[in-house]
Amino acid sequence: MFKIGCHLSASKGYLDMAETSERIGANTFQFFTRNPRGGKAKEIDEEDIKKFLEKSKQIGIDVILAHAPYTLNCASSDLRVREFAKETMADDLKRMEYTPNNLYNFHPGSHVGQGVEIGIKNIVDILNEVITKEQTTTVLLETMAGKGSEIGRSFEELKQIIDGVKLKDKIGVCLDTCHVNDAGYDIVNNLDGVLEEFDKIIGLEKLKAIHINDSKNDLGSHKDRHEKIGEGTIGTDAFERIINHPKLRNLPFFLETPNELDGYEKEISLLKTLYKN
Ligand code: FE
Ligand code: FE
Ligand code: ZN
Repeated sequence: MFKIGCHLSASKGYLDMAETSERIGANTFQFFTRNPRGGKAKEIDEEDIKKFLEKSKQIGIDVILAHAPYTLNCASSDLRVREFAKETMADDLKRMEYTPNNLYNFHPGSHVGQGVEIGIKNIVDILNEVITKEQTTTVLLETMAGKGSEIGRSFEELKQIIDGVKLKDKIGVCLDTCHVNDAGYDIVNNLDGVLEEFDKIIGLEKLKAIHINDSKNDLGSHKDRHEKIGEGTIGTDAFERIINHPKLRNLPFFLETPNELDGYEKEISLLKTLYKN
């Protein structure tokens, strides 16, 4: 079954996101665990969670993706910045257990001048502190475009992080099509080659989710600016190959394109017509 959804506002709770998904033809969704700038999270409403879990079963939502605030920087040279990232992630992971067996995605971080090696060590240290063997959530590293000193611009960098994580069955990767394009991976002309490279370096069994975004910029531009499906440099034909690829077609796909709900609804319906059942 094609698992497709989009980024939704979490301001009205979990049940609301499930209902919105149903309304726009989606069967999964992504949301920010808290204000993307990293404020305090909303109190967990157990009644809302209960209704959400019932609704999910009823409409066939079997996985959701929580996204950490994008301002967290686990790679920072500033101890306070790292402490804040660690506390936020630990709290997010605790809250995620109210909706067990789902996915939690985060941006690895930026090393801001101190070098990739130290940045990666800082990320690994935080992951080893916040990931517990009791958790049912899989933590995903997002593939990044390589803007500034962003870590995660190559499969090799992600692999180095994974290698440092002790509880390996709790860690995976979320591939963002806009980001990998901007990082220089040619998913338009050489999707098989890119996936083979991913498999060789990281292992495709670690790939747990796809952010499906077109890009405003050229291959290798290191820019990270999302575009609507079919209006960017990746294009509809490439997305048809991506969602139908035998190694990808069973993964959940999440739109983060510049859209309101009606735009997402249209893109979901387009992608459904392109998906070969
Ligand atoms: Fe992201
Ligand atoms: Fe993304
Ligand atoms: Zn992005």
